[in-house]
Order: sequence, then C-alpha cells, then structure tokens
Amino acid sequence: MSQDLLHMRTAITLAKYALDHEETPVACIFVHSKLNKVIAYGMNGTNESISGISHAEFMGIKQIQEKYGTDPKILSEVVLYVTVEPCIMCASALKQLGIKKVVFGCGNERFGGNGSILCIHNDTSTNKSNKYVSIPGVLRREAIMLLRYFYVRENDRAPKPRTKKDRKLDKETFPPLQWDKYLTLEEFEDEFGQEFRDAFYSHRDVYDEIDWDLIDTGCDESFLHDLIEQVQSVNCTY
Ligand SMILES: [Zn+2]
Repeated sequence: MSQDLLHMRTAITLAKYALDHEETPVACIFVHSKLNKVIAYGMNGTNESISGISHAEFMGIKQIQEKYGTDPKILSEVVLYVTVEPCIMCASALKQLGIKKVVFGCGNERFGGNGSILCIHNDTSTNKSNKYVSIPGVLRREAIMLLRYFYVRENDRAPKPRTKKDRKLDKETFPPLQWDKYLTLEEFEDEFGQEFRDAFYSHRDVYDEIDWDLIDTGCDESFLHDLIEQVQSVNCTY
C-alpha cells in the first residue's frame, strides 16, 4: 500500500471519530515527508466550538504553530492529508504558510479552494513562490460515504425529516471525478503512474473499491491516544 493511502486511512479513521462525536466527518493529518511522521492532526470542531471557522486544517496549523512558531518553515517539508478538499479559507492559509503538498479525498463543491471553486493552490496573483501541488481522489469514496452517513443522520434529527425515499443512503453511485479541475495530467501521472491515465480522461476513481471496514469500524480512544503520542514525540527541525 502506498504511503499516501496509509496516511489517508489515518485521516479517514479520524473523520469517523468526528462523526461518532457529533461533528462533521472531516479530518486531516500533517505528515513530515522526509521523516514520514505525523506532526499534527485536526478534526472538524465547528459544532463543539459553535464556530464556522473551526476547520480541521486550522486545528492542525495551531498545533504546528505552537510547537514550531508562527512562521513554521517546517511546512515546506509537510504534506497535508485531508478527507475533504480544503475550503477557500484553509487553502489560502496553507498557501501563505508554504505547505509542500495537499492530498485530499473528495472535492468540496461549495467552498473548495483547490480546484472545485477557486484554484488557490496554484494562484499566482498572491504569493507566487508558495504554489503547492494538490492531489484529489485518494479514498474519495470513503470520504463521501462518511459525509452521507452524517447528512442522513442530521436529516433524521431535523424537525421535519424529509421523506424516507429522500434519505435513503446511497452506497452505490458516486459523481465523476473531473481530475483536470485539480491537477495537470503530468501531476496526475507523477502521483498515480501512467497506467491510470485512462482514469484521468474518463473521470473515474483510481481507487474505486470501498473499504467498508475502514469506515464502519469505530475509531476508539486508543487510536487517538497513539496518534497524539506520535505527534508529541516527533521532534523535527526544518
Ligand atoms: Zn476550511
């Protein structure tokens, strides 16, 4: 299994933890690319904090800034794995802080800043030197399924739930992935290999088998505990 898949599995597991704790299932980890260690993690906390800007990425950035300073040079060696495409606000923060690369699961059709709505990651009108490569589609279906679980549950709790037909959980169909909104063919092939070129043009997933175990198994406290321990123990310099 590739490192990208392994790291995204961690992010998906954290997103499941968020779902199990009444939050929107969006989560991320920041990985030092040379050490291959998690240096920060984040989960969506907008419900608990009642703040619309408590996004997973900001939780991770806060941890990094507390440890490495407010202008953390270390980010130029760090890859962010996040289950949903960063929103415009987070994409902009990541760019200004000089992140190396972002890998995400599913697109964010309303607020996405890495290609869905705006292309903050390769925008040259602000800080030209801080462009970053953004890779979509890693465990995309798992990320989408967690969001579907969340919205079906929220609807069930609404004062006027929609009809049963409307809230049937769809486990079969997934929207096409228009890769060229997010990255070039060259970037795609660098990431996934030439053998998947057909997926790029036909808007298919590279990973289309859903790992149901990954999203149905709850994330227990020991998983989170081990992750926090790893984050605290890693001591890297730029
Ligand atoms: Zn955000």
